[in-house]
Amino acid sequence: MDTAIVDTTLLTMRDDRLGIVEEGSIAIDDGRIAYVGPAFEFDPAAARTVIDGRERVTLPGLVNAHTHTGQTLLRGGAQDVPEIEWMNEALGPFAARMTTEDRIAGAKLGVLESLSAGTTTFVEYASDVATLVDEVYLPYGARVVATETINEVPDDRTGLGPRELYPFDREKGREGLDRANALFDGYSEEPLVTAMYGPQALDMISLDLLDSVRAAARDRDSKVHMHVAQGGRERRQIEERYGDDATTVSVLAEHDVLSESLIATHCHGTTADERARMVDAGVSMVGCPSSIGAIDGAVPPLHHYTSLGGTAGIGTDQAPGPGHHDLLRETRTASLLSKTEQGDPTALPAWEALRLATIEGARVLGLEDRIGSLAVGKRADLITVDTRALGSVPTVTDPFRTVVPNLVYSATGAAVRDVLVEGEPIVRDSEFTATDSRTVVDEANERAIRVFRDGADDWRETGSELVERADQGWL
Ligand SMILES: [Zn+2]
Repeated sequence: MDTAIVDTTLLTMRDDRLGIVEEGSIAIDDGRIAYVGPAFEFDPAAARTVIDGRERVTLPGLVNAHTHTGQTLLRGGAQDVPEIEWMNEALGPFAARMTTEDRIAGAKLGVLESLSAGTTTFVEYASDVATLVDEVYLPYGARVVATETINEVPDDRTGLGPRELYPFDREKGREGLDRANALFDGYSEEPLVTAMYGPQALDMISLDLLDSVRAAARDRDSKVHMHVAQGGRERRQIEERYGDDATTVSVLAEHDVLSESLIATHCHGTTADERARMVDAGVSMVGCPSSIGAIDGAVPPLHHYTSLGGTAGIGTDQAPGPGHHDLLRETRTASLLSKTEQGDPTALPAWEALRLATIEGARVLGLEDRIGSLAVGKRADLITVDTRALGSVPTVTDPFRTVVPNLVYSATGAAVRDVLVEGEPIVRDSEFTATDSRTVVDEANERAIRVFRDGADDWRETGSELVERADQGWL
């Protein structure tokens, strides 16, 4: 036996509850869970490493179901601006200055931040995602659902009016699909990597190419992960291209895209009827509440979707919007925004939010047989969180246990102590076991300074609201 965590509070996420075991132990052998249950029924003597789990809660590693860590270098670069400006005016001039090395440096930053805060599975959504897999995820030992962005629009859309249709570049789309196909072949033997298709959004891809992507995904028994109904910018494009009555969901439905193999991220531009239709079709959704709150001033419909019986997970999306990759913080945000939007403090309670961040997120990805709960035979992706940390203490067990609400509403990723992926310790006692994060931070900061400086003149020319705010001394 490799590792045992003993005398800990377990949240196993088994069945349809949290599977709370107050004095529990868990054992890991060869990357898999070999025992999980009461401590008194388990003898840790055979374990090479024994972790004292007292004053810690042990739960499945968190699943960040949608993120673009390559953008982390642009953190702080685009927020507090109108939605229509966000991508092309506020972010565009800086994003256009980023090199592949800058994206790698940003991804390292985002992945280390997220790992240290308890995420063990990342849905990385990027163009040429294989580079991030090779340079970041595999060296750090994180589990990744490598999702290749496939779109047909030019990267630089500066100057394109809000009602001007994006031009489609068929060759670019074809290259994206080729890269996605190559992922499946390239990582088929790598246990930490799952390949996935990422047709970016309906406004950014032709129906022809979307058909080809779906056919390829069917052949490889893969899901298709798409940004769906993500606000006014997309809606205008869909109306211009498909007619005034068209919506993203109506076009997807007409083309038979709504199915169990679709993962729909964001969805804040969907109607209640459309969501019901999606749930009926078996579509799963991912909500990124900080990102969508910051970019669109909207709340992703996680509460409505799950109350309809739909499967859903939570993602941090990208740093220019939400500003962080701490999934515990994101889980709290999901819950509090749902309550606020509904005017109902019972909406998205802590226990449900925690399941979205673990087993339900795994289910969204079709990985629920491997990860997302603590069960014998599953991959040993798990974390421990300090229940005596300032911010999550006190912890009582009578007349009920406060560990769950405190984990969701009070703790942040800073309270995470241990992070294991496939049984390998990535973080022990809040320190990386094999990575010097300081070097990563310093390099990322230097690169960000250059990117912002290089993009400064173009940014000024866009006339973004942020330019005026900066000139007034607010930034
Ligand atoms: Zn996204």
